[in-house]
Amino acid sequence: MHRVYNFSAGPAVLPEEVLREAADEMLDYQGTGMSVMEMSHRSAAFDEIIKTAEQDLRDLMGIPDNYKVLFLQGGASQQFAAVPMNLMKNGVADYIVTGQWAKKAYQEAQKYGKAVKVASSEDKTFSYIPDCSDLPIDDDADYVYICENNTIYGTKYKKLPNTKGKTLVADVSSCFLSEPVDVTKYGVIYGGVQKNVGPAGVVIAIIREDLIPEKPAVENTPTMLAWKTQADADSLYNTPPCYGIYICGKVFKWLKKMGGLEEMQKRNIAKAKVLYDFLDESKLFKGTVRKEDRSLMNVPFVTGDKDMDAKFIKEATAAGFVNLKGHRTVGGMRASIYNAMPIEGVEKLVAFMKQFEADNA
Ligand SMILES: *Cc1c(COP(=O)(O)O)cnc(C)c1O
Repeated sequence: MHRVYNFSAGPAVLPEEVLREAADEMLDYQGTGMSVMEMSHRSAAFDEIIKTAEQDLRDLMGIPDNYKVLFLQGGASQQFAAVPMNLMKNGVADYIVTGQWAKKAYQEAQKYGKAVKVASSEDKTFSYIPDCSDLPIDDDADYVYICENNTIYGTKYKKLPNTKGKTLVADVSSCFLSEPVDVTKYGVIYGGVQKNVGPAGVVIAIIREDLIPEKPAVENTPTMLAWKTQADADSLYNTPPCYGIYICGKVFKWLKKMGGLEEMQKRNIAKAKVLYDFLDESKLFKGTVRKEDRSLMNVPFVTGDKDMDAKFIKEATAAGFVNLKGHRTVGGMRASIYNAMPIEGVEKLVAFMKQFEADNA
């Protein structure tokens, strides 16, 4: 068997231990004589899987009792619509546009009400996080929306925006469970799990109960997009993404065993430092993001020469460092170094980059 160092932005690397456990249980999950893929979502075995997953997530993040945890489908992109549909009571919401995903969410919200762009970093290809200490928040804004870690551009909020008392809604797809979080600062936290938590097909939404309306704010919201539908049914209104939830549950157990989110943060800081320190001293490669806004999860870098970038990606792939091609809007390279990427992967990548730099000087 042969495993590569996979720097994909998503779907992305998962802990090897989790994959091995899942393989062991593939044909017979704990004496049930069947795979989790073949199991009724109403069975006792699955009930335990989803309840345990929720409790472990609550333990890891310290989610207070007055927040619901929902396991949904439709990707993070579907929540771009669900957020305004459920929350836009006054028909106004403020968006901070720090990348493609935030922009898509902002554009989607315009379909359902007045979405206001209160700050943006598009002027410099989203390479920084704007100052959000004193934004022109609308008096009647139903919420303020952010994408907390910008997967494509490699920026991350180091401080949450001053929402002037308005509800904060955050897409955390690419920084989910990468560090401790104070859930009480948010009204809604959601993310697709395929970046840092599990396989594609599951979206986790953590929503303060008083924000789950009896009736969605937007008339004729589809039943499936009304958070209340899923909240009342404990995520089992219809068939949930059972296998994905099962793998997420295993990742939660793995994170607990590793020492929880404080330990993950320490590891993620140490891991990212290996790469950023090299980028800061390299004569060939350079990071594309303002230093103080750098993400611990997604690290874009360029040589400044398209042909050299292509040569690097080709040689890196051949050496077992895969999925390093940057997003087309940034160009160059991007290394996504999520929780499950071991520090050796980053150290070996940096050693390879050093050699490449020496060979191409
Ligand atoms: C990947 C990503 C999305 C889109 O997720 P889907 O599950 O494909 O809809 C949205 N937001 C962020 C921050 C992402 O990284």
